[in-house]
Amino acid sequence: MSLKKQGIISTTQGGECRIVTEMDKWQCLACPYIYEPERGDPTNGVPPGTSFEDIPDYWVCPVCGISKDHFERLM
Ligand SMILES: [Zn+2]
Repeated sequence: MSLKKQGIISTTQGGECRIVTEMDKWQCLACPYIYEPERGDPTNGVPPGTSFEDIPDYWVCPVCGISKDHFERLM
């Protein structure tokens, strides 16, 4: 059983409606790459909307090729 965080709908100041998820971004510690859950990494089999925790362990940084262990959660 996996725990999925739910997205919430929020309205920006410009009146634009968008889905805001509670998923966190993760910073690669070896290069400037930042994993953004809403974008995912489709070229490497990670569809948009995938939280970092749900990425398969074999996934590596698309820029420098380092493993998931070397990412740090952005607050
Ligand atoms: Zn990297």
